[in-house]
This record gives sequence, structure tokens and C-alpha cells, in this order.
Amino acid sequence: MEIITSNKGCEKLCNNGYMYVLKHFGKSKITWRCSKRSSFKCMGELYTNIQKEDPVLKSDHNHFGDSEKVDVEKALCIMKQQSKSGLSKPLEVYAEGVAKLDGNVRSKMPVEDHVKRTLRNQRSKLNPIEPTSLDNLIIDGAYLN
Ligand SMILES: [Zn+2]
Repeated sequence: MEIITSNKGCEKLCNNGYMYVLKHFGKSKITWRCSKRSSFKCMGELYTNIQKEDPVLKSDHNHFGDSEKVDVEKALCIMKQQSKSGLSKPLEVYAEGVAKLDGNVRSKMPVEDHVKRTLRNQRSKLNPIEPTSLDNLIIDGAYLN
């Protein structure tokens, strides 16, 4: 079992080839629901304790788990975070991330261009928005006098 934090800051739990998102944070346990709930109408759910350990399957999935797919998601998640940090270029992040994957997993990665574009978008979120015209340009009061 492994927990990754997605870009939007929400946690995903990976277990036996399935991915779960947090559904309910209870007093003594946490309920996680399958990340394919909307796409597969899957009702698969899992419990963990408050420490997010000891996974127990609550209700079964209506589809097979795919650990390679989960590895792809994990890799993409890490790449996005590295790009967001702005320390390395999206191209480098992608090349490094892919190099770490084994062949089967790599073949399931989304198209290269698509990933790079996503990574670039992460990066541009860091930069302040450039004014597109003079109307949008706000000049600090001190310079007006
Ligand atoms: Zn499921």
C-alpha cells in the first residue's frame, strides 16, 4: 500500500493495483473509495486506520486492478510535482521519470507531448501573469507622481 499526493493536494491510496480517494475521515478509521467510481461505476471501498495503514477491503470492485496503470499514475504525479517545484525543466523531468519506469509501465504512459504540455502548465502556474495589454497593466502609485 502506498499513498501519493496529487497535484490538487488530495491524497490517493494505491493498493493491489487499485487507486482510492478519501471518502470519509472517521473517528477510528478512514474510508476510501475507488478512483474509478465515476468512470466504471465501481463501488469498491476500503478502510484504513487513522494513520492510513492496515487497509481492509470493504466492498469489492467491479473491475480488475492494474498495478502498471497505478505505477503510471504515480510516475505522472511525481513528474507534476517536480515540474511545479520549478527546479528542473519539464523535458528533463519527463526524461528522468520515464527512465525510471520499466518497459511495461512505460508503454502505458500517455503520449509524450501530452505529458510535456501538462508539465509545462504546472510550471506556468508559478509565474505571474503577464499583462496582455496596456489596459491590464497596473502601475504602482509611487510611479505616477
Ligand atoms: Zn474499483
